[in-house]
Order: sequence, then structure tokens, then C-alpha cells
Amino acid sequence: MYIFLRKKGVRPISRLFCAICGTSKDPFVDNLCETCYKKEKPLDVETIKQIEVEICSSCGTMRIQGKRFDPEDFTNIEEAIREIVKGVVIEKLRIDSPYKHDYSDDIDEEKINYKRLKRFNVTTSITAKPFEEFGEFTAILNTKVNISRMTCDTCSKYKAGYFEAILQVRGENRQITEKEEVRLEELINIIMNKYEGSRMAYILEYDINKKGITAKISTKMLAEELARAIKQKTAGKSTTAYELKTKARDGTDVYQNTYLVRLPKYALEDVIEFENEIWVIKGIIENQIKLESLENHGIKKFDRRRVETDGRRRFYQIVERKFMVISFKGNMATIMAMDNYENFEEKIEKLPKNVKEGQSVEGFLYEDRNYYLKLVESDDI
Ligand SMILES: [Zn+2]
Ligand SMILES: [Zn+2]
Repeated sequence: MYIFLRKKGVRPISRLFCAICGTSKDPFVDNLCETCYKKEKPLDVETIKQIEVEICSSCGTMRIQGKRFDPEDFTNIEEAIREIVKGVVIEKLRIDSPYKHDYSDDIDEEKINYKRLKRFNVTTSITAKPFEEFGEFTAILNTKVNISRMTCDTCSKYKAGYFEAILQVRGENRQITEKEEVRLEELINIIMNKYEGSRMAYILEYDINKKGITAKISTKMLAEELARAIKQKTAGKSTTAYELKTKARDGTDVYQNTYLVRLPKYALEDVIEFENEIWVIKGIIENQIKLESLENHGIKKFDRRRVETDGRRRFYQIVERKFMVISFKGNMATIMAMDNYENFEEKIEKLPKNVKEGQSVEGFLYEDRNYYLKLVESDDI
């Protein structure tokens, strides 16, 4: 009496003939020869039969099996679809044995873009060796890829004028200067460049002029980041106003916030009168202002609040002037005003540092006295 133990991988040979074709040519598995086994019990393997690919007509974003893909992450649309579809086919592959696969498709960028062809075929051939005794089994799987056009959520929001926040930049009882306009725009560009390709970060409407900036910003988060950066860069103050705006489709309240940044009372390069002296604003940080004296061009730091309270801006009262330095003698210089060619003497320390004979200086006339700001840059002459 023999007892056959059916262990995995060790199969007892109980017959010497194939149950179907009767061949005696071994090996056998479950009483079948290799040819008959492959016919009767082919490789048990399945994958997804159809994949839906939706492409946004405006921005090219793709939605495949409900997942969003950014075309910028791929070299071209054909490669993008191929990579993603391949991934889905493999992910959905159901097979018990270890396998190798080969993949081919007729996805073609030109057909997608120009011929508007909507259907492609993907063929995946699977090779596996489920039994030690038999050779390799193969199976061919077909998946259809349907391509359709749509408008993605972001684009439809953008088209509908969707925005969550307003960004405002204003001067503290003053207009903003041209230099501030340039600096603010540079700063905003730096931040927006960081979000290039991120579709929910956009500025819907943007207006910059002497009154400041007013912009509609896609998200609160972006508006907050812009406001924070502007506040830090300018030492301004920021406030947020929460305003109940409307109800969303699901009934929840949607708040539209306004982020306001107030630029400091003085702009850089402003001329002010403070403690009976004329100064130029050179730097502003949270609690401190750096001033350049127009008596001797020395730099001094003051408490910001004190200067903002006691200082007076001198903008309308000054008359801009250009001067030329004619000669030096001792601690005095002979200066010529370029508007009337009048010559006069001035202490050297009142002139910008390192000025040389023959050089031009920018300045102004204020209450019958001349002040000298800086050398005229050669291309200004
Ligand atoms: Zn057989
Ligand atoms: Zn889109």
C-alpha cells in the first residue's frame, strides 16, 4: 500500500496517459498533457478592459480613471497617456503566478491632436510559468483607451471668474512711488513664478497704479502669502477682512477675504523734515527708520514711530534742481546751478560723498536753500 502525499510542487503521477488526447508523452498535470492543459485551462489573467482619458481643452490637464495628471510632468501628450495607461493596465492586472509582460499600443499624438481620433488599443502580452513541469504560458490582453475633451474644474472656475480673495496694497495717506511699483511687481512675479504650473494659483484681475494694487486672487492661501511677503519687504502693516460672500452649491458659506497691506507712511528716498533738519529715508524696518542727513550725508537710525509722528514729508514744497561741481577750495566747493548757471559756495560736507570736480549732482531747492541728493548717473545727463 502506497500513500501519496500531495505536496506543493510534488505531484504524483497517477496515470501515464493524457485524459483528453491519450498521449503518453509526459509531463502531465492534473492528468493532462501540456498542449491539452493549455487549451483547457489557459492562463487565468485579467486586466481593465477600457480606460477613459479626459483632456481639458483649455489647459491640457488630463483626468484618467478619475485621477488628475499635469501634462507638464511629461515630455508630450502621447508619452503621458502611454505612461499612465500602462500603469493602470499593470495595476489592474490580476494573475496568480509570477509573470513577464510586453506592452504595445497605437496611441499617436498627431491623431489625438489633429485627427481628433478618440479610440486607441493597448495590447499587453503576458508570459508566465505556473507549473514547474510545463513550459511558458502566454495570454494576450486588450484594453481600449477612449479619449474625450472636457473643461477641468480649475479652468471652469477660472472661466467663471472664481476667486476667494482680494489683495490690496495702499500707501499710508499717500500715493505709492514708481520705485515701489517696480519693487512690488518684482516681488509678486517671484512668488507667482514659484506656482507656475499649479493651476489653482492665479491672479484673475490685477491693477497697479499710484493708488496701489488691487488684485483678485484665486485662493486665500495665495493672497495671504502675497500679503505677507509684501508686508515683510516693505515693513508695512497688514490686515484681513473676512466678508461673508455667498453660499456654495453644497450650502456652506463661502467667505471672500480682503488682505490689505498698508505701506509705511514714508517711502524709500522720500525727503522729510525732522527735528529741523532735512533727511532722506534710507531704510524702514519694523521699529526703526534709517535717515541720511542732507547736511553731511551721515546715516542715523531713529525710532520709527517718532519719525512718523514728528517728521513732515517735503514733496510738493521742493523744487528739483541739477548742479555741477566746479572746484574745491579748502572745505568749500564752488557749485553751479544748471537751470540758471548761477555760481555759489557750499560746504563740501553738504555734497554727496566722493564727488569730484566736473561731476553733476541731483538735488533740490527748499526754502531758499539747496540740497544735494546724489551724483547724476551718466545716462541721466
Ligand atoms: Zn493531451
Ligand atoms: Zn483646465
